[in-house]
Amino acid sequence: MAGCSAARAPVAPRAAPTVIYDVTQLNPVTVREVIVPRTTQEIVNAVLSHAGPISVGGARHSMGGQTAAPGALQIDMRNFDRILAFDPVARTITVEAGIRWRQIQERIDSANLAVKIMQSFANFTVGGSLSVNAHGRYVGFGPLVSSVRSIKIVLADGEVLDASRDVNANLFRGAIGGYGGLGVITEATLDLTENVRVKRRQITMPITKYRKYFFRHIRDSSAVIFHNADIYPDDYRTVRAESYVRTNDPLTVKERLTPSTGSYRLNRVALWIVSDWPFGQALRQYLIDPWRFRNTEVAWRNYIASSDAAELEPAERDVSTYVLEEYFVPVDRFDDFIPLMRGIFRRYRANVLNVSIRHARPDTETLLSWAPREVFTFVVYYKQGTDTASQRVTGVWTRELIDAALRLGGSYYLPYQLHATEAQFLKAYPRAPEFFALKRRVDPTNKFENMLWEKYYRP
Ligand SMILES: Cc1cc2nc3c(=O)[nH]c(=O)nc-3n(C[C@H](O)[C@H](O)[C@H](O)COP(=O)(O)OP(=O)(O)OC[C@H]3O[C@@H](n4cnc5c(N)ncnc54)[C@H](O)[C@@H]3O)c2cc1C
Repeated sequence: MAGCSAARAPVAPRAAPTVIYDVTQLNPVTVREVIVPRTTQEIVNAVLSHAGPISVGGARHSMGGQTAAPGALQIDMRNFDRILAFDPVARTITVEAGIRWRQIQERIDSANLAVKIMQSFANFTVGGSLSVNAHGRYVGFGPLVSSVRSIKIVLADGEVLDASRDVNANLFRGAIGGYGGLGVITEATLDLTENVRVKRRQITMPITKYRKYFFRHIRDSSAVIFHNADIYPDDYRTVRAESYVRTNDPLTVKERLTPSTGSYRLNRVALWIVSDWPFGQALRQYLIDPWRFRNTEVAWRNYIASSDAAELEPAERDVSTYVLEEYFVPVDRFDDFIPLMRGIFRRYRANVLNVSIRHARPDTETLLSWAPREVFTFVVYYKQGTDTASQRVTGVWTRELIDAALRLGGSYYLPYQLHATEAQFLKAYPRAPEFFALKRRVDPTNKFENMLWEKYYRP
């Protein structure tokens, strides 16, 4: 299907110059126009007829302008969202890349199947998730790539290629985790797995005991499906470890998927208490969490995996906003990272709401792998002012945390704010030069751009 241009080529709807915001509202980028394609041909036509820059947007939940570049044509993938093939016996599904996990769950749930690896929320598009090589809190897995059979990608010359471990393997290894830098991922074939009943178990312990606990009870358990552990700020010495374990117990939650109409008003109040009240963190640790998690929950895996990111959305983001960051540390350096992180947060009085620990098996496939070895991940959720001074201070402590992770042989995650220096980026992603060489080959005029690649890619 190389560079095909049909006689009556379909044209995607266009919108005039538009400011693209990500979910934090911190990084407005004015693009020249936005198109909303529904067919691969519309994407090919747009790529062929536009010299560049071109950026690609999914659900726009990245937080540092990764979906837009100034003056670009943005390809908004959210309506490119059909299911192309579903094989319940082989447990695979082929989808268009603008589809969200939730739409897949709605289709596969009746076959009692579940997405194998995805984030903790179901709002994200498959294309955006592939492009960051996302992870969830699944035990025994690493990043999303290990559940991907193949992708289709539109390159800068309009060619549509299949890429997998067997065909165009370099594109497969570059585009997954490649933040839209090599082309537009249009389709993906993904592995599915069984939808099972799970029961929540939790235990609170000193953080010094967590690593041993994880290795002894969680890491190699085939019964544990989801696991994470929340570290309580502001002393960062206590964790609440939460696991969802396979069970045959009767369901306490009857719905098969999380209702998509939740109001989340209580969550907003809880967020406000924890971030703004003088003893908000203590209230969370000793009152709010014990009350929230007082019952033993038994639910379907798909119910747990279909949560909506709206549950974290504050009432407004004008004066302050809520932001994520993530650091990866080799498993044997877990205990070294904790005091470094605690020291940095306390020194800068960072308003950290939560640090969630997860675990990932290595990904030795992708060029921009964030887990070339087995790691613990530290997902930091914090509140910051939107003024320039607050953004500057956040940048300072973020770079210190990145240095701390790098010193221990770790890395940091790229979908968030672009505070890292170029040297930090190259140290965290040592195979970036290979990715750049591939980009030069398949996108010689640097058509595919966004704020991330504007910062770190020197064509
Ligand atoms: C509340 C919240 C919770 C989160 N939880 C997790 C988590 O549990 N685990 C985790 O790993 N991450 C998590 N993230 C980060 C999230 O996975 C990424 O931001 C992801 O990119 C979101 O998908 P999206 O559809 O919004 O992508 P977008 O933000 O729209 O795009 C992300 C990148 O992918 C590129 N892109 C998008 N679609 C395509 C395509 N079809 N072809 C080529 N390039 C494309 C974009 O150009 C951009 O560079 C979380 C983020 C938020 C806001």
